[in-house]
This record gives sequence, C-alpha cells and structure tokens, in this order.
Amino acid sequence: KDAELLDGAAEERKRKVGAVIEDVERTLSTPTALLRGIADAMVTEMERGLRGDIHAAVKMLITYVDNLPTGNEQGLFYALDLGGTNFRVLRVQLGGKEKRVVRQQYNEVSIPPHLMVGTSTELFDFIAAALSKFVETEGDDFHLPKGRQRELGFTFSFPVNQTSISSGTLIKWTKGFSINGAIGEDVVSELSKAMERQGLDMKVTALVNDTVGTLAGGRYVDNDVVAAIILGTGTNAAYVEHANAIAKWTGLLPKSGNMVINTEWGSFKSEKLPLSEFDKAMDFESLNPGEQIYEKMISGMYLGEIVRRILLKLAHDASLFGDVVPPKLEQPFVLRTPDMSAMHHDSSHDLNIVGVKLKDIVGVADTSLEVRYIARHICDIVAERAARLAAAGIFGILKKLGRDKLPRGGGKMPRTSIALDGGLYEHYKKFSSCLESTLTDLLGEDVSSSVVTKLANDGSGIGAALLAASHSQYAEVD
Ligand code: BGC
Ligand code: MG
Repeated sequence: KDAELLDGAAEERKRKVGAVIEDVERTLSTPTALLRGIADAMVTEMERGLRGDIHAAVKMLITYVDNLPTGNEQGLFYALDLGGTNFRVLRVQLGGKEKRVVRQQYNEVSIPPHLMVGTSTELFDFIAAALSKFVETEGDDFHLPKGRQRELGFTFSFPVNQTSISSGTLIKWTKGFSINGAIGEDVVSELSKAMERQGLDMKVTALVNDTVGTLAGGRYVDNDVVAAIILGTGTNAAYVEHANAIAKWTGLLPKSGNMVINTEWGSFKSEKLPLSEFDKAMDFESLNPGEQIYEKMISGMYLGEIVRRILLKLAHDASLFGDVVPPKLEQPFVLRTPDMSAMHHDSSHDLNIVGVKLKDIVGVADTSLEVRYIARHICDIVAERAARLAAAGIFGILKKLGRDKLPRGGGKMPRTSIALDGGLYEHYKKFSSCLESTLTDLLGEDVSSSVVTKLANDGSGIGAALLAASHSQYAEVD
C-alpha cells in the first residue's frame, strides 16, 4: 500500500515536471519564421535609428570612424579595454604594410565588483593606475620616437554619444555597471583627468565601442569584414554603413563615403521577441528594468540566471529537487553562464558534471540521472533560444547591408566576413555552433557559402590601437 502511494506521488511529480517543461519549451521556442520576423523588425528599428527617431529601439550611434585600418599604421600605440568583467591594457608596435604587428603585450585585470557600482573617480583612478603600471614595464623592444607623447585607443563598451573620434558622453550603463554621476559626462576627459592624477602623460586619440574595435581589428586581417558582433557579458553589433544613408548625420560626407555605426542592438525590443515570465521577472529585478531586453535574452551575464529561474520554478511547482526548495537556488545569479555551459556540454553517461554543479551551486547532493537530464535540457533550451535570436540579429544586419541574397540579375555573391568576439561566442561551443547553423538556415546554402563568420580574438584591443594610430596627433593629414 505504501509503495503504491509512493508510486502515485512520484507519478504526480513527474507529471508536474513534464507540464512545466512543456510550458517552458513552448514559451522559449523560436521557429525560423519567427526569427525572420525578428530580423525584419531589427531592420525597421535600424532604419528608424538612422533617421534619428528618438523612439527607435536601437540607437545606431555615429562613431566618427569613417576609415578602417589599411595595414599602413605604424608606431607604438596603447589600448585600454573597459566594459566587461575584465579590463585589458595593451601595447602594440605596428610596422606598416609589410611588418604589421611587430610586437604586442597585454595585461588583463579583473574589475573588483564594488568598483562597478561605486563612483566614477574610483573606477577611473583604478584603471589609470593599472595603465600607468603597465606603461612602466614598456622596455626597449618598443619604440616611441623622441619628443612624442604616448597615444591610446580607449575601448569603452557602453553606449556613448560620440562628439568626435576622441570624445563622447555616456548615455547609460549596462551589464551590471551602475555608477552615479557618470551619465552625460565625457568619458575621455574622465580618463584623461585620472591619468593626470597618476602622472601619466598619454593622449586618447580614439574612443571606440568594443564592436567598433573588433570591426577595425577584423578588417586589419581580412578586407571583407563589414560587421562585428560581440557576444560576451553583453551583446552588440557594429557595421559599415553608407554615410548618405544616415539621415541624422548633419556633418560633411566623409571622403570614404562610409561611416561605422554602433547599433547598440542590445536595447532592441519588439513584440516578436519570445519573452517569458522568467525574462520579465529577471528584467524587473535588474539594475536597468525595461532596458537591454534583447541583451538580457542573449548575453553571458544573463543566460545562467534564466536557467536558475526555470529550475527554481521546477523546484517550486513540481518538487524537482524534493519536497523542499533548495535555498541556494533562490539566490539571484548563483548559476553563472560558464557553469551552465559546463552542464550543457556534459556528455558523460551519468552526467557527472551536471551532478557536481547541482551539488556545488544548488546545494543538492545525489541528484538522480533524470533530474540531471532535466537540468541539462533547460540549459539547452535557454542557450538555443539565445543563439537563434543572435543569429536573427546578424541576419538583420546582413539584410540591412543587402548581403542576405544573391545579387539581382545574377553576378557573383561578394564575400562577406563578420568578426565575432566575446566569451560566450568563444567558449560556449553549443551556443556558437547553434548560432552558425541557424544563420546558414536563414541565409540558405547559396548565400551562406559566401558569408564567413570568424572569431576575432581580442580584435577590439588591436582595433582600438589601430584607430588610435590612424587618428594620431602626429599622423599626416591628407
Ligand atoms: C553595451 C555595448 C557593448 C556590448 C558588448 C552592451 O551592454 O551597451 O556598448 O558593445 O555590451 O560589450
Ligand atoms: Mg570585451
């Protein structure tokens, strides 16, 4: 009799788990037709952004980068990359067309979390101090002509209203940064003041978003790079636009006829996006409610947290982890995306890694194989949605560029390269392979064979240094 009762309870639990999972699968699903609609909505918002419509969901920021690296850049340049969980400093000796990157060195420092929510002065002092230390280790391998000031490309990976190639004001913070009093301030003058306080004599000659740095770094090694995508802590895209297609641009048309646009696609939103109760609750409780909706469905800062919220629902509504809800699971952001990735990639027969992660993170020892399968399946659902949505965005950019279909009236499809960077793309293999296969699916075989996606590993650092070089105060003006 007892056994029968127990069986009945187990059956009931199973039924409830199944019902929740089915519901999650349904609300997070992204059929290809939906992705096509999302890409179209993205293009519509991009066009609104280029017109300067203040209600556009994507800002389409003008970058003042109207020329990408040619290979002729020469000299010693520094770069500083701020915007994720780490920041990097880099120096590179550029040798021109033949020699290219002669030498490069970098250093990576993780940002103490309290600085992400402290004061602007503290953050910039910390960065300038690290940069200053790095400059001291320069050594004789690097060569700065006599009487010259060191120059820096500053990669600042937040939305900025550029006022020139080397100045711009912060529009808002994203990705867990929230610093009072910085919004509306010129980030280059903040950094320059901090460098002065350090006694560091250096001039910022280029201020760039990480997507723009990646685009520049990508173009340096491949002439066909026309867009760059970041899939890391946050997400964003930049691409080369025809200057005369930018209605809100009131300046002179650049000689090149082109202008790099920082789309800030992370802020994209549309009724078409498959927003679930988990997304809505996470957004509501975030530092920036209502903002960066697309980013919150895609990027590394959030994916693990979405999985946690789904597991929590399974624990609450269907007793997935037994009669009590594991208290650890109630804690926002305990489940990080790298842990999610480790669970998702576990292909062992007993799902040992999933078991270890559930024990360490959720605090439940001895999970059954079935529970482990479920946990891995949830990772799969969340990662797949993210990768497919990101692919839809890239497809949208290709549409905007007119590179989504074969040329009219025949003719050869031009080769199109897209530079990608960010920890999510680089390290989460199931994510990146799903993104790529979805993009192929959206483009069709004929077109996709001319579209190359490739990892531009820390392209943004080199890219910023290259742009610092081409905008050097010593560069000859033609
Ligand atoms: C920022 C972008 C940045 C992206 C990737 C987003 O949160 O708004 O400026 O390019 O993250 O780092
Ligand atoms: Mg980065």
